[in-house]
Amino acid sequence: MTGQERSEEKSECVSLSPMMEAVPAPPESERVCVFGTGDMGRSLGLRLLQAGYGVVFGSRRPHSSSSLIPHGAQVLGHAAASQSAHLIFIAVQREHYDFLVPLANQLKGKVLVDLSNNLRKNQYPEANAEYLQSLVPGAEVVKGFNTLSAWSLQNGPSDANRQVYICGESVEAKQAVIAVAIKLGFSALDQGFLSVARELEDFPLQLFPQWRLPLRIAIGLSAAFFFYLLIRDIIYAYVTQSKDISFRIMVSLANKVCPIVSLIMLSLCYLPGVLASFLQLYRGTKYRRFPDWLDRWMLCRKQLGLLALGFAFLHVLYTLIIPIRYYVRFKATERTVSVIRENRTTQFDTTTAWRGDSYLSLGILGFGLYVLLGITSLPSVINTLSWREFSFIQSKLGHLTLLLCTAHTYLYGWNRFLSSSTYKWYTPPGYMLCLVLPSVVLLLKLLHTHTQNNTLSVMTALSLRGWLPFNHRLPCFWDQKPTITFN
Ligand code: NAP
Repeated sequence: MTGQERSEEKSECVSLSPMMEAVPAPPESERVCVFGTGDMGRSLGLRLLQAGYGVVFGSRRPHSSSSLIPHGAQVLGHAAASQSAHLIFIAVQREHYDFLVPLANQLKGKVLVDLSNNLRKNQYPEANAEYLQSLVPGAEVVKGFNTLSAWSLQNGPSDANRQVYICGESVEAKQAVIAVAIKLGFSALDQGFLSVARELEDFPLQLFPQWRLPLRIAIGLSAAFFFYLLIRDIIYAYVTQSKDISFRIMVSLANKVCPIVSLIMLSLCYLPGVLASFLQLYRGTKYRRFPDWLDRWMLCRKQLGLLALGFAFLHVLYTLIIPIRYYVRFKATERTVSVIRENRTTQFDTTTAWRGDSYLSLGILGFGLYVLLGITSLPSVINTLSWREFSFIQSKLGHLTLLLCTAHTYLYGWNRFLSSSTYKWYTPPGYMLCLVLPSVVLLLKLLHTHTQNNTLSVMTALSLRGWLPFNHRLPCFWDQKPTITFN
């Protein structure tokens, strides 16, 4: 750098704090540089200042940027700013990275943190961080902080995502970035080499990836059962009896769809675990990958379970408002009046009372356990449980929840299963259809436990006879990736 250039750089230097000149500058290890005074650069700079770092911004126009940057920071031209710190955050869009090429010599040996994201997947042939590394080969590029938003940086980690994912080739460079992340209050997760950068860049483009399939299933099931019940309950009454009971769509129909979808989705939570157990038993080993579809299914069990809980909750709300419905109050009054007018006496039916109470009680117990499963799927609660406690709740109590909710539905059907009037237009009612899957899951689970116990006895017998080595590993339920529903 010539003397003239140096004096130009000096004249470009702007300190926002008049105290800065009096206060000695922090050592280089405590100083960081941020290229770019946009939203991300300013938010990051603010948090770095709050964490006690000295912050020097690198900008194309230090003078005009000076009014924007946080109080206490300095702003210089890029070349001068890069000299002030070992760690430089690049808060500039990838399209403009070529401004770094003339600075390649000054940036040699520095750690460059690439914050950039893209507008869509596969926008460029290589990851932004790899592109940056190719422009400045002498620097150590680390990808990181890109999964945070400028907003969350301003609000602090308590108000948003606490995790910072990083990757890069140099262990020392990554450690330096991790140290900054921790000091800012984030937990840093090292994802490996720079080749992972593309994955990290795609991360902010994803919209609830694990919720997509469960949401589609929930919407599909709700729509299918809604139309099925609309035809069976409302249109059937209109066509065969010329009765308009379309008002039932709002509460009665909704209160049928919700428990049906909830029970099917709860079964879908437990079905992949049971299928995986059978697959392991069939293969005789746990050391083989599950098919991709089963893997994907297992990975979204928590979301399936939480959606099932949501539908169960709606069912409870709809059920609680039944007594205040106009239709119900009208029917009750009409019945009472007709009993009085006709001077009839009605007999108390103990069987019906038993059935009604059992049906309600099983529903309440099932919902109580449902809520417990939901609560224990919260990360803060999971952290307080041992693996065994978590497994006990999610697997054992989870299957018990399925059993209680299934029994609740069987009791709802009671003797109507055998009555021909139930099958309007030869179609079974919705609750009958929704019992198929949970019954299959519970039967398979029973069968699996039985088969596993039998296999265990056979293997033990074989081992005792010396036909099998004693240390032969029997695949068991717990050997799978967590078979947990709401994990
Ligand atoms: P921005 O508000 O548009 O700011 C970008 C900054 O880059 C500008 O203020 C400018 O700073 C500098 N710049 C623009 N053109 C330049 C050029 N030709 N040469 C050199 N520098 C130039 O963008 P941003 O939202 O802060 O985002 C910055 C980077 O962070 C992007 O790569 C983005 O993907 C990433 N990011 C942003 C967020 C977010 O929430 N905003 C979250 C994660 C990651 P000077 O005028 O001071 O030179």
